[in-house]
Amino acid sequence: MSTSFTAYAATFIHAGKVIPANNDEVLTEVTIIIDGNTITAIEDGFKKAGQSDTVINLQNHTVMPGLMDMHTHLNFQNSGMRGYMERFTLNEADYALKGVQYAKRTLDAGFTTVRNLGDSYNTSVALKKAINQGVIDGPRIYTAAKSIATTGGHADPTNGMSASLSGDIGPKEGVINGQDDARKAVRQRYKDGADLIKITATGGVLSVAKSGQNPQFMQDELKAIVDTAKDYGMTVAVHAHGKEGMKRAILAGVDSIEHGTYMNDEIIALMKERGTYYVPTIMAGNWVAEKSKIDGFFPDIVRPKAATIGPLIQQTFAKAYKAGVKIAMGTDSGVSAHGDNGLEFVLMVEAGMKPIDAIRSATYHGATLLNILDKVGTIEAGKLADIVAVKGDPLENIRLMQEIQFVMKDGKVYKQN
Ligand SMILES: [Zn+2]
Repeated sequence: MSTSFTAYAATFIHAGKVIPANNDEVLTEVTIIIDGNTITAIEDGFKKAGQSDTVINLQNHTVMPGLMDMHTHLNFQNSGMRGYMERFTLNEADYALKGVQYAKRTLDAGFTTVRNLGDSYNTSVALKKAINQGVIDGPRIYTAAKSIATTGGHADPTNGMSASLSGDIGPKEGVINGQDDARKAVRQRYKDGADLIKITATGGVLSVAKSGQNPQFMQDELKAIVDTAKDYGMTVAVHAHGKEGMKRAILAGVDSIEHGTYMNDEIIALMKERGTYYVPTIMAGNWVAEKSKIDGFFPDIVRPKAATIGPLIQQTFAKAYKAGVKIAMGTDSGVSAHGDNGLEFVLMVEAGMKPIDAIRSATYHGATLLNILDKVGTIEAGKLADIVAVKGDPLENIRLMQEIQFVMKDGKVYKQN
């Protein structure tokens, strides 16, 4: 009865199963009613729709909130040595146009929201605008724009270049030294249209530099970043492999640790105490480990880092999950191929995570980390209609998360097989 008097046209999704993702609950045989871009009700049984309403039959499917990947690089995709050359050959427009295709692939894979953690030339800000304006199809993007590093650190874009090319770049380009630079870099990103801040607190695998884990920010620099970001309502995401860099960042009050490879019991305890999220990116670790076996795929200085750090991430994840660290799903796509994001679910479950927890890490927890749980992240009346589905039950076969059959974002259907 509740919908029979509605004068407008609504959408009725007849769902065999629904994982609302608020908790471990699974609903069977319900109707999700959508008005415009909003979920208005979830009712038991397959409700009969009015003549002007649209019915979507997902009776053989499991319906979930739109998936959320907390670590992407939508304007880039790694291709080994050729990728390193792109820094010298590509212009802003080249990166921007690549993003159009990668954004579409990501949405098709069921990811209706992503957190983009690093670009060149603020191309992800332009991508976000184009998607929000309906110019192109893609996920909701929350972007850090250009990552912030220190001189020679991971995400210093001039690493490995000749002196004549590398110059002496600063906060505007995302390279800081000292508190004043740190504040300026955050404010510049606010001005550039970023939604949050990404810093590289330790060395990394793919940068043309020796260490993949040394600490690269001082405590006062980290504090200046976090304090300034707070002024603008921005969260701080932190790339970190080594312990010391992680520890300093967590103590400074950052919101998430990305990769977290050499996390030990002390770091785990600190993250639990502070409520810091862990975004594992197991896919990226496995991908670089695999590619390190190919002669000439990476520069010589990168290859040993990829071979040692890469394979450890899945074990670190297993340990952190068991210990009860808050986990938000993230893939680092752009390292591996955009659109393959669903593989991360398989790797998380393979490492011991319960399938329901894996799905909640990519819905409820992503939304919590982004501070947008009031709008997305669960299937509930009042939330935006970001809805995906797989055929069958992903709680019994997690690989189904790699075969998303239905994608709705903001009440609009983008994929229906
Ligand atoms: Zn990354």
